[in-house]
Amino acid sequence: MAALTGLQIQKLLPKTNCKECGSNTCLAFAMKLASKKIELSKCPYASEEAKKILGAASEPPVKSVEIGGGASDKDNYTYRIGEETEIYRHEKTFVNRTLFAININSDDEVENIDKVINFVKNYRLDRAGETLFIEMISLTHKATTTATTNTFIELAKKIHKETNRPLILRSDDLSALTSAAIAIKGSKSILATIATPNTTTDNNTELIKIAQENEHALVISGKDLDSIVNTTEKIRANDLNFNNLILELPTLSYSESFQINSITRRAAIKDQFKPLGYPTIKFISSTENIFESAESAVCAINEITKYGGICVFPSSDADPALLAPLMTLRMNIYTDPQKPIQVDPKVYQIGEPNKSAPIFVTTNFSLTYFMVSGEIENSGISAYLLVPQCEGMSVLTAWAAGKFSGASIAKFIKEISLEQQLESRTLIIPGYVAQISGELEENLPGWKVMVGPQEAADIESFVKARLM
Ligand code: SF4
Repeated sequence: MAALTGLQIQKLLPKTNCKECGSNTCLAFAMKLASKKIELSKCPYASEEAKKILGAASEPPVKSVEIGGGASDKDNYTYRIGEETEIYRHEKTFVNRTLFAININSDDEVENIDKVINFVKNYRLDRAGETLFIEMISLTHKATTTATTNTFIELAKKIHKETNRPLILRSDDLSALTSAAIAIKGSKSILATIATPNTTTDNNTELIKIAQENEHALVISGKDLDSIVNTTEKIRANDLNFNNLILELPTLSYSESFQINSITRRAAIKDQFKPLGYPTIKFISSTENIFESAESAVCAINEITKYGGICVFPSSDADPALLAPLMTLRMNIYTDPQKPIQVDPKVYQIGEPNKSAPIFVTTNFSLTYFMVSGEIENSGISAYLLVPQCEGMSVLTAWAAGKFSGASIAKFIKEISLEQQLESRTLIIPGYVAQISGELEENLPGWKVMVGPQEAADIESFVKARLM
């Protein structure tokens, strides 16, 4: 596959351009296949010949595993993990962000269980135009616990029903795990055994059958990296037609955790070593975990920055103060550096402005927009924020590129008929582009152009001094 170009791949596709794969044409799909951004299975019409030639070779080096989105998923809690092609984000981009889950133990107090369920259901963080949330709940059941198998099963059903999310079912009791897996069959959840330093992989054939029959993914753990490789090699060699695997990497210290995550990703991507080409999961919640006495935040940062597929927090971490910075870090790491994040070019209302309210202007780079709109809101006035198309550039970059000039802002005002919509004729431009004020006034007769502060943080004092 590495040797095949998009055009060569296109010749193996049906060439009907039916769009069912999500691409507009077979050629566009072929180009994505060539760069390993999509899997051949997305084309329902690929011939057996194409599957044979392109199939395994078209898999991204870190396999994509889809979770959730089963028939009972009404809110589209469908996620992908893996599908990665890079070791360093700046080389292209990371694709699927680390999922966050909170763990519940089957013997937890009912009150605490409900508290975690409600927390996961209601937690939302609005950041740079995106609403961030907790993707999953993990349910752990130990054979030695006071909770019965029936409690485990009923809890699995209850959590899945109330949150609509896929679950991570985790137990050292194979029979209980099987029953719970059947109880939420088709939810495309994840099954895991409880890894200990001496974990064996004896049950994997049976577990694969359970996962396969009930449409779940399976976590492969082992006492060291070699034993995990042995297991995944066997699964691949057995041709069980099941490849929805997630790796739980064994670690003994923070530095080892950092190293083993890096070694695994490097082996998968640089060496194309398929037995380690799977997404990973880290349970911070386990009592056997070496991290139990350490800060969850440190473990989570390691997972977010070093290739973790899923990070499971203990229920004591159901805390917005911990999760908000981690969510923000995750968003930063998994934002595509090739695409500037942008907001739609238009005029935004801040507060409840009347038609004579002042109009601030800035570029459509998301961070700039959110900083400026947030500071206008904080200043206590209602106003408009005019955001022309600047291709997602910040103020000075857009100005240097000729995208944020007096002429282009005036042109945008005319295009959206702002003068017909509003009575205000006061425009406040960022202090960094004071030099465009003359050009703006020339292009907008009858308007008053004010030069605002250079930094968004100074908007409040500017408003108090000049607009109130
Ligand atoms: S689904 Fe297959 S046939 Fe249809 S456009 Fe995509 S690649 Fe072409």
